[in-house]
Amino acid sequence: MTTVYYEKDANPALIARRKVSVIGFGSQGHAHALNLKDSGVDVVVGLREGSRREGTAAAAGLKVVTPEDAAEWADVIMVLVPDQYQKALYAETIAPRLESGDALFFAHGFSVHFGYVNAPPDVDVAMVAPKGPGHLVRRQYVEGSGVPSLLAIHQDATGDAKALGLSYAHGIGGTRAGVIETTFRDETETDLFGEQVILCGGVDSLVRAAYETLTEAGYPDEMAYFEVLHELKLIVDLLFEGGISWMRHSVSDTAEYGDITRGPRIVTDSAKEAMKEILGEIQSGEFAREWMAENDAGTPRLLAGRQEVANHPIEVVGRRLRAMMPFLVEKSPEDDI
Ligand code: NAD
Ligand code: MG
Repeated sequence: MTTVYYEKDANPALIARRKVSVIGFGSQGHAHALNLKDSGVDVVVGLREGSRREGTAAAAGLKVVTPEDAAEWADVIMVLVPDQYQKALYAETIAPRLESGDALFFAHGFSVHFGYVNAPPDVDVAMVAPKGPGHLVRRQYVEGSGVPSLLAIHQDATGDAKALGLSYAHGIGGTRAGVIETTFRDETETDLFGEQVILCGGVDSLVRAAYETLTEAGYPDEMAYFEVLHELKLIVDLLFEGGISWMRHSVSDTAEYGDITRGPRIVTDSAKEAMKEILGEIQSGEFAREWMAENDAGTPRLLAGRQEVANHPIEVVGRRLRAMMPFLVEKSPEDDI
């Protein structure tokens, strides 16, 4: 059994005694910084000069300084810039300003686990990773609840790394929902696997293939869209509420019989073989090297993939149909935080 920590297990005074800098003010950064501030923690936000989020952070009552000044001042540094930039940020900005006994925190294990960040042995290295997007981490906190979070200790230099991590998790509201102890390896590898084979990659590819199959067979675009994309949310909600049995209980017997007999013909043994292969690439560090090299090359595949999906017929019909559903607030990649 995995240990789960709650409010009573954390000592809020530990993080309140420290100077915390949150570097980055995106999805996670804004939520961590604001929640910590509202929990009475001494926190500053580290943002590059001219960052378009500087005004947002300042307007929210946060102190904004450069990443250099944030690293210099703090004794707990939470790194909340995108994974691919953490290596350079650490080497150029953080490492020269680390002092013995400082703590370096992350919300995902990528950089540490794959060796892009190697802190000196006299520094605590820990992860406090909410299992939800930043806007939820903020909203739940404000509403008095929290988002379940993971805690992992990579390096315990002071002997206090775990207690400090739990105290930080308390400050952002994580202990209200439960904090599960894990390792950098398990968090990083399962997170990458999940987003690649199901949550993002798997679902996205399945939706597009099903849409193409229906429209190529002559069915109307609009019907195909509602069937394979819009309705997915209803099914995911059922899975979320009560697992596979509850989902099957809630759909018709006809749908359940189709699930039982047809599902395995879509996700075949060869799909599981591909999953194992993808997991192997994650475990060996091959995926991490590929992704860092993609960034060094100026992200050509990332940009091409974005362009390709923006022009896909399901996106074109989807934008039109969502505009007719005023209860949906249309979201686009340009929307902030
Ligand atoms: P994001 O893209 O939303 O925001 C990144 C922020 O960093 C922006 O404010 C950007 O301006 C800033 N930034 C970029 N490079 C910088 C630099 N060199 N110096 C200073 N600031 C810089 O990122 P995010 O989604 O909040 O991800 C941050 C971390 O949190 C990642 O490790 C990610 O894996 C983890 N995480 C994200 C989520 C999520 O739902 N988004 C959930 C759990 C963990
Ligand atoms: Mg994830």
